[in-house]
Amino acid sequence: MVTIEEAQRTILEYITPLETEKVSVFQGLNRVTPEDHIAPWDIPAADNSAMDGYAFSHAAQSGDRLRVTGFLPAGEVALAPVPAGEAIKIMTGAPLPADCDTVVPIEDVLNDGEWIQFTAKVKAGQHVRKRGEDIQRGNVVIPAGSLLRPQEIGMLSAMGMTTPAVYRRARVAILATGDELLEPGSAPSPGKIINSNSYSMAAQVLDAGGDPVLLGIAPDTLEATCDKISAGLNADMLVITGGVSVGDRDFVKEAIETLGGSVTFWKVNVKPGKPLAFAMLQGKPVFALAGNPVGAMVAFELFVRPSILKSMGRRRLFRPMVKAALEEPTANQGGRPHLVRGIVSVRDDRYHVSTTGNQSSGRLSSMIQGNGLIMLAPEVSHAAGDEVDVLLLDREFEMGEAMQ
Ligand code: AMP
Ligand code: MG
Repeated sequence: MVTIEEAQRTILEYITPLETEKVSVFQGLNRVTPEDHIAPWDIPAADNSAMDGYAFSHAAQSGDRLRVTGFLPAGEVALAPVPAGEAIKIMTGAPLPADCDTVVPIEDVLNDGEWIQFTAKVKAGQHVRKRGEDIQRGNVVIPAGSLLRPQEIGMLSAMGMTTPAVYRRARVAILATGDELLEPGSAPSPGKIINSNSYSMAAQVLDAGGDPVLLGIAPDTLEATCDKISAGLNADMLVITGGVSVGDRDFVKEAIETLGGSVTFWKVNVKPGKPLAFAMLQGKPVFALAGNPVGAMVAFELFVRPSILKSMGRRRLFRPMVKAALEEPTANQGGRPHLVRGIVSVRDDRYHVSTTGNQSSGRLSSMIQGNGLIMLAPEVSHAAGDEVDVLLLDREFEMGEAMQ
C-alpha cells in the first residue's frame, strides 16, 4: 500500500499547466496569471490632496492666515502656481498646484469667505499623497503565478489592463459506472440506486475552478466503458467512479488498458478512498475512484482537486491543515489512517472538532454535517482535548463562534 502523500506526488508529476487565454479583467477572478504585470505609470500619477481642504506652500506661509484665491476640483489641474501667502481650495484627489506641498483640511480652519485661519497645528507636507507612493512605474506589481483576487483585478484595471492572460479552466469529464445506477429524476426501482457521484463530483470540479463535462453512466460492460472513456478524452482530464475494484463487473482498469493506457493501481493506505487507479491515456490524466459516495468525494479531495489546481497554474494545491482539540474521546481501531468526517468550530481562539458520528463510507450524510477531515493515525485512542490534525474542507461552514 502507498501513503496518501506518495500517491499525490506521483500523480502531480504528470500534471502540467494548461494553455492560457485572455479574459475580460474581472472574469480573471480566482484564476492564475502566467505573466508579470509591470506598472506602465506611477500611481498616483502626481502629488495630490488626500483631503478636501486648502493647498499652499508651507515654507512660503507665515502666521496662520492665508488668502484663498482659487478652487481646484478633482479631475482638473491648476494652470498657475499659487503665490506665496495664498492658498487654493482643493478637493480630494486633485493634483497639487506647482509650489504647493501642504494641505490643511476644511475642518481645521475658520473661513470668512476670503481668508482662512488655522485652528489646528499644520505640519509641512501633511495630507499629500506623493506621486508613485502606491505603485512605481516599471515595478512588477503582480508577478507571474499570482492568483487574481478582487484586489489584483482592481490593480490590473488601475494599470490599464482590460484583458489579462490567465490559465484556462480545466475541462474535467466525469463518468459514473454501474448497472445499478439511475439518473436523478427517475423513480428509484428495486436493485437500483441513484447516481449521485457524478453530481457531487461535478460540484467539486466547479469548486476547484474547473469546468465539468458530464458523460453520464456507463453500464458494466467493457465496450460501453471503453466508449465512454474515449468520449472523456476530449476533456483535459477524466474522473471515473465505481468499477475499479476486483469484482466480476469491474471493467474500468481493463477498459483503460484496452485503450492503450498503462494503469497504476494503488491500494492507498487510507480509509475511505482506498482503491485508486491512475493512468495517462493519450496524454490525459485519468482517475478511477471508489464508487461509494464518501470514498469518491474524499479521493477527489485528495487526488483530483490538487491536480485540477495544478493544471490551472495554482501553486497552493492542498487544503489548509490545522490543529484542533477533540471534543470527545475518539479512536481509530483500524490498521489504516482514517479520515474521519469532522465538525470544526472556533472557540476561545482555538479550533475544536467533533466527529459526525457513523463513518460508513456509503453515508453521504456524514459529509453533509462535516466541514473537515480528522486525520487519525492507525490504532490510536485519543482523549477529549487531545490535539489532532484536521484538513479544513469548508472554511465558511459553521466555523464561527456566533454559530455555536
Ligand atoms: P463499485 O466500486 O462500482 O463496486 O461501487 C461501490 C458502491 O458505490 C456500490 O454500493 C455502488 O452502488 C455505489 N456507487 C457506485 N457508483 C455510484 C454513483 N455514481 N452514485 C452513487 N453511488 C454509487
Ligand atoms: Mg460498480
